[in-house]
Amino acid sequence: MNLNKHSSILGIDIGGTNIRFGIFEYKHKFKLVHQIQFELESREPEKVCDCIQNIYYEISQIYKVDAIGIGVAGMVSKSDMIVINAPNLQWNNFPFRDILSKRIKVPLVIMNDLNAITWGEFNYGRGKNVDSMLCIFIGTGVGSGLVIDKKLVIGAHGFAGEIGHIKVNEKDNYIVCGCEKTGCLETYIGGKHLTTRLRNLVQNEKLSLSFLNIDNLENLHPGIADRVFAQGNKTLDQLWYTNGKIFGQTLANCSTLLNPHQIIIGGTVWEGTPNFRKLSLQSYEIHLNETTRTEIVSPLLKNEAGLYGAACKAALLL
Ligand SMILES: [Zn+2]
Repeated sequence: MNLNKHSSILGIDIGGTNIRFGIFEYKHKFKLVHQIQFELESREPEKVCDCIQNIYYEISQIYKVDAIGIGVAGMVSKSDMIVINAPNLQWNNFPFRDILSKRIKVPLVIMNDLNAITWGEFNYGRGKNVDSMLCIFIGTGVGSGLVIDKKLVIGAHGFAGEIGHIKVNEKDNYIVCGCEKTGCLETYIGGKHLTTRLRNLVQNEKLSLSFLNIDNLENLHPGIADRVFAQGNKTLDQLWYTNGKIFGQTLANCSTLLNPHQIIIGGTVWEGTPNFRKLSLQSYEIHLNETTRTEIVSPLLKNEAGLYGAACKAALLL
């Protein structure tokens, strides 16, 4: 055994496409010292476990890994850390902790990716000077994590913070959500479903590719539509005003219910659609209760937040 190896905690972030590993030194100061990211060769759960085991083996040649924290894009049960449902990975009821802990003999914790991001932002990012915060990410889907009075809130069974599945329109049955219901916030503002709505506008000849300045539907994404909306395209008015209104309302409802110090909002769709952002913030102003007005801010840690949060949670195991 090499006694000179630095003690470390390994943070892992598993998205729908990529996997990211971060090595944190923690004995003196909690510090990210190295990270790697690559595309998943396979999303099959056993193959992802193989990948983690291999990388762990490589890292443990250089560092003494004392604990592992993993954030995964899916619903993770509180008591036994089973990944109940991870639509982007196509995992269902996968006993992730049990399988992995048979292969890797160090303490490990598995959490929802947005909870990991939230915990990272709370401890080392934008939220480090507040006690209560809500963190929302709008990318392919819509997720959130919540810290109240310095505690990460995961609820009775581990599934608190699924803001994407708040119902915003009971009459809408146009798109069935990943949760198998209709009318969810995610079916409007989440990148995947919003892009479906935009493609359908093109296919129904209400929008043209030339007007969008793209040559095929594959290149269509919310950022392009956001620019076209700003140029005065009336076809997009209904969708954009609806989306701004319902997201602003949701933010106001969250402020009223939770009274956080701040709401952190990030993600590719939020960052790439300035006009949707503006409409959402206008709607927030209209719907908020003044006593619970909340500062709305951007995340600080960018892609590293999930690594920080997962590793930071794993540190509590030691
Ligand atoms: Zn849903």
